[in-house]
Amino acid sequence: MTEKSFDVLICGGGMTGAGLASVLAKQGLTVAVFEAQKPAEFDLSQAFDLRISALSPQTKSVLERTDAWQKLQAMRACPYRRMRVWEMQGFGDLTFDATQVQASELGHIVENRVTQLALWQTIADMPEVTVLCPEKPVKTYRQGDQVFVHTEAGKTYTGKLLVAADGGPSMVRQQFGIGVNRGQYEQACLVVSVNTALGQQDITWQRFTATGPQAFLPLPGQHGSVVWYHHADEVRRLNKLSNEELAQEIMSQFPQQLGQIEVLEKSYFNLQKQHAQDYVQDGLALIGDAAHMINPLAGQGVNLGFQDVACLDEVIADARAAGKDWWRADVLQDYQQRRRWANRLMMQSMDAFYHGFSNEQSGLKWLRNGVLAMANLTPIKRQVIRYAMGMQDVTSTAGKVLGRWVG
Ligand SMILES: Cc1cc2nc3c(=O)[nH]c(=O)nc-3n(C[C@H](O)[C@H](O)[C@H](O)COP(=O)(O)OP(=O)(O)OC[C@H]3O[C@@H](n4cnc5c(N)ncnc54)[C@H](O)[C@@H]3O)c2cc1C
Repeated sequence: MTEKSFDVLICGGGMTGAGLASVLAKQGLTVAVFEAQKPAEFDLSQAFDLRISALSPQTKSVLERTDAWQKLQAMRACPYRRMRVWEMQGFGDLTFDATQVQASELGHIVENRVTQLALWQTIADMPEVTVLCPEKPVKTYRQGDQVFVHTEAGKTYTGKLLVAADGGPSMVRQQFGIGVNRGQYEQACLVVSVNTALGQQDITWQRFTATGPQAFLPLPGQHGSVVWYHHADEVRRLNKLSNEELAQEIMSQFPQQLGQIEVLEKSYFNLQKQHAQDYVQDGLALIGDAAHMINPLAGQGVNLGFQDVACLDEVIADARAAGKDWWRADVLQDYQQRRRWANRLMMQSMDAFYHGFSNEQSGLKWLRNGVLAMANLTPIKRQVIRYAMGMQDVTSTAGKVLGRWVG
């Protein structure tokens, strides 16, 4: 028996699923969000979560539309104003500064759970949104002009549009028969939560080495996150060290900018890329990691997900204003065309970084140092900063950079 009907059913109440629910509800659509796992409540005395993301100003503006940003800031977030990228034993050394684009910051480092909780607090106040948690869709399909979700609890929900926001493995994507192009990287990454001897920092940095990047992301106070990319075997070895041994190993291998650290917690992630062959069907749209997973080395994954959210919201709003059936594939194609291309370009850029910088061939070493040096030219640097901040779309950035290069 049908339990309840909504305009939109979203499978997955992570950052992108909850984000989409908030903006669609603001349009006046009724939304059900199915989430298997309730995020733990926030308390300022808690240790920092290992899973953090660098949120771009563009993501911030999506979250500001529904006051989620204010809620996030009331918990905790660390603005960063500068970003340095350089190569070990190379001459390329690049520092981006928010002041170069008249901005107050380049982005914020935020725990994933804090972003998710801020969005959950927002949608809890919206009568259009029903959060079903813990609730797991087990069967999803389309019949006639409706989508159906059967849940583990034996309930059935119907809607006009089903959105897969259920992460990389996406059960919904699989049940609708959408394939993926997939690849695995040789490197894995170790993520380490640390206390540092230095005071509050406003710089995030990344040094490229032949075995992979070494990065630091600041968190509020004397906290931070160390990210170490290396061969998967080496990352597994490092992950087995005691916290004290790991701290010594990091301090001996990382640049001296890191200073003294104390390791609090660690975990590692295998790196993979994955791209859905289609983002839409009649009554279906994929967003976030359900649609694309990229190498996290430039911290763009969930930012792309929030751009999906903004784009899908806009496509649906425009179609509704024009009196169109906004859940149909011919309308949703616009979303697919805009987002799939942009996500693919970012994925390929990450591949170029990964392969270009994890290589000791001398020709390539000169080339990448030349690229870093070229990017240091003020006009190009400004364009790169704007792109990384999401202040400029990729087409105009690429066009302007190329335009300046060829004169
Ligand atoms: C090491 C690492 C570092 C990263 N750093 C950054 C960064 O700095 N910046 C950045 O932008 N991105 C970063 N990313 C990427 C970012 O973490 C992901 O892009 C982001 O988490 C994707 O969000 P999502 O909401 O699409 O999916 P997910 O976070 O995977 O959320 C999916 C949700 O769906 C739920 N779910 C799944 N299946 C079901 C089901 N059947 N029923 C009900 N619920 C279900 C899950 O419980 C979960 O809550 C990083 C990734 C890694 C691995």
